[in-house]
Amino acid sequence: MAQAKGLSLLSGGLDSQLAVCVLREAGAYMEGVTFETPFFSAGAARKAAKALGLPLTVVDFTADEIALVKNPPHGYGGAMNPCIDCHATMIRRAGEIMRERGFDFVSTGEVVNQRPMSQTRQSLGVVARACGLEGRLVRPLSAQLLEPTQPELDGLIDRSKLLGLSGRQRQPQMELAAKFGLTDYPSPAGGCLLTEKGYGRRLKDLMDHEGLDDLRLVRMLRAGRRFRLPGGASVILGRDATDNARLESERAAGEVLVAPVSVPGPTALVLSPCESDLALVRALVCAYSRYDRFEGEVTVKSTGDSGREDFKVARPYSREAFKQYQLT
Ligand code: SF4
Repeated sequence: MAQAKGLSLLSGGLDSQLAVCVLREAGAYMEGVTFETPFFSAGAARKAAKALGLPLTVVDFTADEIALVKNPPHGYGGAMNPCIDCHATMIRRAGEIMRERGFDFVSTGEVVNQRPMSQTRQSLGVVARACGLEGRLVRPLSAQLLEPTQPELDGLIDRSKLLGLSGRQRQPQMELAAKFGLTDYPSPAGGCLLTEKGYGRRLKDLMDHEGLDDLRLVRMLRAGRRFRLPGGASVILGRDATDNARLESERAAGEVLVAPVSVPGPTALVLSPCESDLALVRALVCAYSRYDRFEGEVTVKSTGDSGREDFKVARPYSREAFKQYQLT
């Protein structure tokens, strides 16, 4: 009998690893596919693939994810996470690879009713049809509760080896993990910055002002404290020496670096700068500097496209005054 060739979405989480193990037991040759963007890495999937001895294709999903963040047809989850569309697009991309490279089916580690909205028996069928994979999308952990797929009907996968898991309890997965000798897997949630509310506020602010086309700015979203000043400038204020060094190396044309020179203190990278906001940034870096250890005015340098200029900034310096502009 010919051996079925399956391509499994591998996040690195336990369920995605179990899906591979169960399908191997059912007779399939398996490979994995995973996705990476500035919002989540493929690290856990790479680690899992290595442990499983699974050939892995890593897809740069950045353009897809940015397009979905800008305009999610099914809306966002609790933060800026377009999960429904993100998940469906990943499956669609896996389907494209399936057709290009001659796989027989795509599989996932989804479990019926594990998530109330997106993993009901009905919604799993909707996703398969919407992704153009009807009959070719295998969910081995819940397959006994779903219609048989084409490779099962063709006898390429032994359906009797597939499982009938349903619901949110994790005990069956833990038992299967022990059976298959899986010991290293991250928690099912986590790992995607788009699900974090604080990160989501920074991302929304960037999207609404500078836009999401400059990936350098997207990749810097976790760096530093963030301020949006009244003239429209965005300020990234270093929290530590690592942030400061990074900001100094990241300045692009049209942007300005501001930092105290007469006292230790943070570097600020100013996007979309205007004169009134730059005066505020000079006061801001003083407020976050160690000015208290020294007497007199602080000297601040400002470096932009036309070179460096130094300014004396008079006291008092107040962090409180900038709270109203800070993104939390
Ligand atoms: S948590 Fe992140 S990676 Fe996962 S489906 Fe949602 S947006 Fe996509």
